[in-house]
Amino acid sequence: MSFSNFDLHPELLRAIAGAGYENPTPIQSRAIPLVMAGRDVLGAAQTGTGKTAAFALPLLHKLQEQQPAPRGARAPRALVLVPTRELAAQVADSFRELGAHLPQRGVLIFGGVSPKPQIDSLRNGVDIIIATPGRLLDHLQQRAVDLSAINLLVLDEADRMLDMGFIRPIRKLIAALPKVRQSLLFSATFSNEIRELARGLLRNPESIDIAPRNAPIALVDHRVYHVESGDKHPLLTRILFDGGKRQSLVFTRTKHGANRLQQRLEKDGLRCAAIHGNKSQGARTRALDDFKQGRIQVLVATDIAARGLDIEDMPHVVNFELPHVPEDYVHRIGRTGRAGCSGEAVSLVSRDERDRLRAIEKMLGRQIPVAA
Ligand code: AMP
Repeated sequence: MSFSNFDLHPELLRAIAGAGYENPTPIQSRAIPLVMAGRDVLGAAQTGTGKTAAFALPLLHKLQEQQPAPRGARAPRALVLVPTRELAAQVADSFRELGAHLPQRGVLIFGGVSPKPQIDSLRNGVDIIIATPGRLLDHLQQRAVDLSAINLLVLDEADRMLDMGFIRPIRKLIAALPKVRQSLLFSATFSNEIRELARGLLRNPESIDIAPRNAPIALVDHRVYHVESGDKHPLLTRILFDGGKRQSLVFTRTKHGANRLQQRLEKDGLRCAAIHGNKSQGARTRALDDFKQGRIQVLVATDIAARGLDIEDMPHVVNFELPHVPEDYVHRIGRTGRAGCSGEAVSLVSRDERDRLRAIEKMLGRQIPVAA
């Protein structure tokens, strides 16, 4: 299968080549023809599978094929809802890269920053909105956005949006959309709540299940260290120094824990930054950029802050603490083992976390080997 099989606009094929994608990933092979054919899609896919391009490419194609309203009366026609600003930024980057040779314009909308530039962009006219639900609802309630021309809707990482309590804003936003539209819903996990949301949202959807449900990417090598809480930090330092790791992403459960660990690792001589919900958007973007550019070795993150991080070439993830919710384990390691790279995920498990480990192993359907 090659991208040229899809009948995509030639300018999209040019952008795909520019992005260096040679062949479609499995989710792209399944989703692109369905979306092009106008079907609603319920996609079970984790981050790292290429799901962003799986919806961005056919959406851009369809927008290009539709007759847009004359300039000035331009109303947004596609809406992508995502759980976090990081994921919003990452999805916007994909649209920018893949739509580089097309005239479609997008706007990125999320909270924690001034609404004014967002309102200005909306007023100037955009084709695509990529947004977190809360802030977009604010704009809707202030009548700063017109959703009456949206005919393409994507809910990306729907499970995480529900975990974050976005169900009410999502329902209110959906109520403001035209009934006749094409809708796509992607989620890594499928709770009853997600299924119910999908039932109300999708019209005779085609289901795509790429990664086995609730199973992490197979290429990742998982290991567990059983360790007393007080010994976690020295063990982590040893792993980071001795393992010859180029860069590591380390997860903590709390913001406070992330800050404390960052300070301790810096004292050990590691170049390190922390990202979590209390950090300003600027600080988060800077830390991520420093990490991507290799200026820091270790990025300490909480689950919410790390959601949607797109880090290429990230072979090493450490769970300094196990997550509260077993599904977050999958989300955390979902960023290793991308695009065929093998990855490594190490969990430091103290006595009081054993129940959490059992819950994770139950979800995975297998035991995680103990490190020698
Ligand atoms: P996603 O699952 O959308 O977060 O994508 C994961 C990563 O895979 C991103 O860095 C994409 O740029 C990359 N990617 C997406 N599609 C392809 C493809 N067909 N070939 C190679 N890399 C891809």
